[in-house]
Amino acid sequence: AKSQGRNNLQFFTAAMNAAATERMEMEIELRQAIETGQLELHYQPQICAHNGTACGVEALVRWRHPQRGLISPLSFIPLAEETGLIDPLGAWVLEEACRQFAIWRAADAPVLRIAVNLSAHQLRSPGLVAQVEAVMTRYEMIPGELELEVTESVAMSDPEHSFETLRALRNLGVQLAIDDFGTGYSSLSYLKHLPVQILKIDRSFVQDIESDENDASICASILALAHSQGLKVVAEGVETAAQREFLSVHACEYLQGYLFGKPEPPEVCLGRLRELSSA
Ligand code: C2E
Ligand code: CA
Ligand code: CA
Ligand code: CA
Repeated sequence: AKSQGRNNLQFFTAAMNAAATERMEMEIELRQAIETGQLELHYQPQICAHNGTACGVEALVRWRHPQRGLISPLSFIPLAEETGLIDPLGAWVLEEACRQFAIWRAADAPVLRIAVNLSAHQLRSPGLVAQVEAVMTRYEMIPGELELEVTESVAMSDPEHSFETLRALRNLGVQLAIDDFGTGYSSLSYLKHLPVQILKIDRSFVQDIESDENDASICASILALAHSQGLKVVAEGVETAAQREFLSVHACEYLQGYLFGKPEPPEVCLGRLRELSSA
C-alpha cells in the first residue's frame, strides 16, 4: 500500500509538472503571438430589435496559431488574465477594434458603435483611462461610439475602485455595459449606483426562453427592472425567431446572436451588416 501511495504521488507530480510545463509553453507562445500579430478580431453584429438594422458590433479576439489553427478566447483569455498578458493583449484589442471601426465609419458602413470586452485585470490597471482616451483621440471617436463591456463579477469586485474607473471612462463618453448579466450575485439596486447604461442578458438565460418558464421569467424580470432603472438591454445568444419574438415583446432594445450573424472577420462582417441594414 505504501509503494502504491508513492506511485500515485509520483504519477500525480508528473501530471502536475506536465500541466505546469504546458501552461508555461502556452504563456511563451501567447506572448509571441501578441508580438508577432497572430491575434485577430472577429466582429459580431448587434441589431436594433425594433427594426432589425445593425447598430453595433462586438469585437471578439481569436488566436490564429501557426500549427493549431484558430483558437477560441475561452482557452487563452483566462491564462492571459493570470499572467498579466491580458494588458498587452487587451491594449492590442482596443487599438485594433477602434482602428477597424474608423475604417468602417470612413466607408459609411452601417455600424454606429463598437463594443470591446474589458477584463478584470484591465479594469484594475491604473493606465486604462489614459489608454482609452488616447485611442479615442487617435481614431476621432465621438461619445457613444465606443462601448466597453465588463462582466458583472468584475464590476462588483472592489466596487469602489471599479466605480471610480467606470465613472472616468463614462466622462470620456464611453458607453458601459455589464456583460453576462444574471450569472453573478449582484442586485439591481446595487448596480444602479454603477455608471453603466447597458445590461447584456447572459446567453444561458436566452437559450431556453421557449422551453424553460424560469428562464423566460428571469429574462422578463431583468428587462423590466433594467428599464425601470433607465438601462438599455442587449440579449446575447439569440438563435431563433421565437427567442427574438419573446425579447421584442418585452421591449429588449438590442439583440445579438447567430440568428443575425456569427462573429466573422471584418470583410465578412461588413457584408452581413449591409445585408441586415438593407433587408
Ligand atoms: P462574451 O463576451 O460573453 O461573448 C459572447 C460569446 O458568445 C462569444 O464567444 C460569441 O461568439 C458567442 N455567441 C454569440 N452569439 C451566440 C449564439 O447565438 N449562440 C452561441 N452558442 N454562442 C454565441 P467567443 O467569441 O468564443 O468569446 C468567449 C468569451 O471570451 C467572451 O464572452 C469574452 O468573455 C471573452 N473574450 C472574447 N474576446 C475578448 C477580448 O478581446 N478581451 C477579453 N477580455 N475577453 C474576450
Ligand atoms: Ca462581451
Ligand atoms: Ca457576454
Ligand atoms: Ca457569456
